[in-house]
Amino acid sequence: MKVIVSTGRLCTVTVKMCACEPERYGLWPASADKPQTAFSIPLLELFVCLSLECQVSVEGFCNTLRWKNNLTLAEVNTLYRALVGESISHFRHHHFRQRSLVDICPQLDDGTICPACPKADGDMIVTLDANFGLVRKQSSGTSVVEPLHGTRMFVDEKDVEEYLLLHLDSSKPHEDCSTFKAGNMLRSQKQAKKLDVTGVFGASCRHEMPLMFVNMSQGERLAYPLYVIDELLRRCEDKNIHLRVVYDIACVVASHLHKSGEGIPHNISLAVPAFHVYGHKLPCQIKYSTRRLDGFGLTDGEGMERLWSFLRRFARVTKEMTPSHRLDLLTDALLHYGRRKSNDLGLSTADHTQIA
Ligand SMILES: [Zn+2]
Ligand SMILES: [Zn+2]
Ligand SMILES: [Zn+2]
Repeated sequence: MKVIVSTGRLCTVTVKMCACEPERYGLWPASADKPQTAFSIPLLELFVCLSLECQVSVEGFCNTLRWKNNLTLAEVNTLYRALVGESISHFRHHHFRQRSLVDICPQLDDGTICPACPKADGDMIVTLDANFGLVRKQSSGTSVVEPLHGTRMFVDEKDVEEYLLLHLDSSKPHEDCSTFKAGNMLRSQKQAKKLDVTGVFGASCRHEMPLMFVNMSQGERLAYPLYVIDELLRRCEDKNIHLRVVYDIACVVASHLHKSGEGIPHNISLAVPAFHVYGHKLPCQIKYSTRRLDGFGLTDGEGMERLWSFLRRFARVTKEMTPSHRLDLLTDALLHYGRRKSNDLGLSTADHTQIA
């Protein structure tokens, strides 16, 4: 069998295979069925950490090893061809399952639950935002298999499409009282022809734990925030949770809900983030600033902007990926971000308390 050792070089060794213990020799197979090549696990671990933390691409990683370990160009090409297959996403997923133990006990936290938000009877502050950088090119292929993570972070696209069809009236945010969105709208229309995902709409809690994400296939439509709000409400049904939603154009959402006759549900409050609100007309600044409304504390509502500044760096890699691979990498990235947030929650909460 051929083994790619921790320097990135290919060696030939004899390995007696046993299907039930993939990590026994510290090797990870390049393919699930009758593998001919295997990787050293420390090598893959290094790659996974580098890709989650610094968005290193396979190509970048191979070239790094080339200069660090004096690989020849032929060795780099062999390494590249071995690494671009399925095995990396399976490896990442295997580690996720090992860490979260969700296979053994589905009730365990899979990394999507915020330790600090109320699970029942309380107020939950969530921030919503769209990002038009996290696109996918139509020419980047199709997937035959579903993402390994399923709908852990990204909701089912069929669900969203059905919702969009049912809510045709909420086509575009017509009353444009904020100037921030204009550029995004233009860009998303110009490029939409070559892209099948034009951006990502997401929600995080006030502690910046990622909650829910939607692939957008059309420009900015009010139906996306409405869908996410509906879905969040459905998730905290019967739990006596008051949802406080902070969104760049919450004022437009509010006036849409009033106009359509639905009204704002009693268990929701809407607000505009503390900095974005200055792009709005004066009445909005008074009515919707998180600094002026009750119950929002000192939450600035800009948590999604901070999350995007991490996640958008993956766009360079994910825009060229197949739909399932892309969702798996973005989900793993979000889980990584969530781990960072929940591990540091004690410190960040202490800091926030001090400021307050
Ligand atoms: Zn065995
Ligand atoms: Zn939280
Ligand atoms: Zn406004």
